[in-house]
Amino acid sequence: MLKNKKILLATSNKGKIREFKKIFHDFELISQEELDIDDAVEDGLTFFENALKKARHASKHSDLFSIADDSGLVVPDLNYEPGIYSARYAGIGSTDEENRNKIISELKNRNEIALSAYYVCVIVGVRSYDDPIPVYSFGRINGKVSIHSSGDGGFGYDKIFYPENYDVSMASIDAEVKNTISHRAIASKLFIKELESI
Ligand code: IMP
Repeated sequence: MLKNKKILLATSNKGKIREFKKIFHDFELISQEELDIDDAVEDGLTFFENALKKARHASKHSDLFSIADDSGLVVPDLNYEPGIYSARYAGIGSTDEENRNKIISELKNRNEIALSAYYVCVIVGVRSYDDPIPVYSFGRINGKVSIHSSGDGGFGYDKIFYPENYDVSMASIDAEVKNTISHRAIASKLFIKELESI
């Protein structure tokens, strides 16, 4: 287990910070924003590479154990898009709404109301910039993306993502429940288990 329970969270995404702080309630999570650390360049080709780049970038500016996640929505029938480009699917600087609208138009162009999809999350943690044995975990939640938007919670694609075994969108599911079933929750639980062994 980490000596002190302080962890640097390498993201400035408010939705992620909110969810991680709840899930890692036994730790003291400090976001990179609080330490004025800028965003890393995400030019990897996989979720894993990008998460590692973000964690390493933050660790350059702090002595704390640094963790980052890279997450996104994957729609196999849309060539596995938006994938690692989820945050900028409709272009660099695009809003969540623009990204959702792009998925909706892709579905409509194919005359589909919904398509199978899943969220994935990879979490990587490093003790230092050159840590040769990063800690990592992976989480996934299956569901569908739909042309119908609903709900007011969550962020990103939640209004159009309908998790398996639920009749409502992720944005309609109570935040407490999302924090137990989501790709981020699954990856986080596995990650915390790993932390207990280092
Ligand atoms: P990242 O910050 O590069 O990992 O990009 C993550 C992007 O994936 C977010 O900006 C969202 O568009 C999407 N995403 C990841 N996790 C979620 C989630 O829990 N709900 C909705 N969208 C998500």
